Amino acid sequence: MSRGRALAAVPAAETLAAADQRAALMRSLTGRGPLGGEWDAERLLLVPRPGGRLTRTGPCPVAGCGRDRPGAGPLCGWHDRQFASSGRVSVEEWIAAGEPRLTQRRRLSQLACVVTGNDGTSCPRPGIGAAGLCHAHDQAWADARRTGEVFAGFLARVEPLPGFGGCAAACCYLKASYRKSRLCVVHYRMWCEQGRPAGTDFADWAARVRQPANGRVVSLRGLPELVRLELLYAIQVRVHEQIRTGAGNIRGYVDRLRAAGVASLTDYDVVRIPTNPIARSGGFRTPAVGGRVAADAGGVILPLGHLLLGILVRSVPLRNRLV
Ligand SMILES: [Zn+2]
Ligand SMILES: [Zn+2]
Ligand SMILES: [Zn+2]
Repeated sequence: MSRGRALAAVPAAETLAAADQRAALMRSLTGRGPLGGEWDAERLLLVPRPGGRLTRTGPCPVAGCGRDRPGAGPLCGWHDRQFASSGRVSVEEWIAAGEPRLTQRRRLSQLACVVTGNDGTSCPRPGIGAAGLCHAHDQAWADARRTGEVFAGFLARVEPLPGFGGCAAACCYLKASYRKSRLCVVHYRMWCEQGRPAGTDFADWAARVRQPANGRVVSLRGLPELVRLELLYAIQVRVHEQIRTGAGNIRGYVDRLRAAGVASLTDYDVVRIPTNPIARSGGFRTPAVGGRVAADAGGVILPLGHLLLGILVRSVPLRNRLV
């Protein structure tokens, strides 16, 4: 068992007291932070705005995309990959021809099923199918279509179904799509891929599973309050210093902290933050931490996790650390 897990599982009384003190300090440091509308304190989500304080770059030019451009390129990462395999020479032509696809967004969207009842209430389940239907209505529509029914007739005939509430994964901000597991589509897929853990194994899995890869949201849900405040503080320092922190930069690091069950950023051993040969040779990509890296004052390229921890260690007095 890792040290972080041990701390999370059986925290000693003095560790809890120190964590409380430290959380109070971090709360005072993060109280009037510079994130403004890019931190949703109610839902515990970072929501980087294209061109905003976190991303510091403009929006992807594909209509309806909403992602930011992570670097000097003209497109977001998702559309950059599409364009690369399109065979087109010009981004403008590719966009004008209507070739960019937006399909991945539907899966991560929080739009409800398009079925509406006679009394005007909508079906509260997530609309995940191509027609904007929830899983159950999508299956019902597949059956109806085979019998020759038209979509408008189907919509007029069917009624909303009861919702399942929020996804059971601690990190997640999407609605559940499945009755038994109470998972969203993304986590249901991960749960199946990872052997469908059950009972206490399911609870452990749900507490540690990674968040949906979404270029527009980073979830700080499912983290202890202290870890969340430490992250917010370090990010706020970067915003204050006008350094970019995009969603793709930080998501992987946040997920590693959650999976390790740490009680503080200072519990996470920096040697466990992966680097790669590209980063060491002075490049800018570190896929293992989910995004770009930045150079410190000495010109050494470091993963974002190191940089955030460095900000924290520099800024917060030693007596207020847990260790
Ligand atoms: Zn895009
Ligand atoms: Zn529905
Ligand atoms: Zn989920």
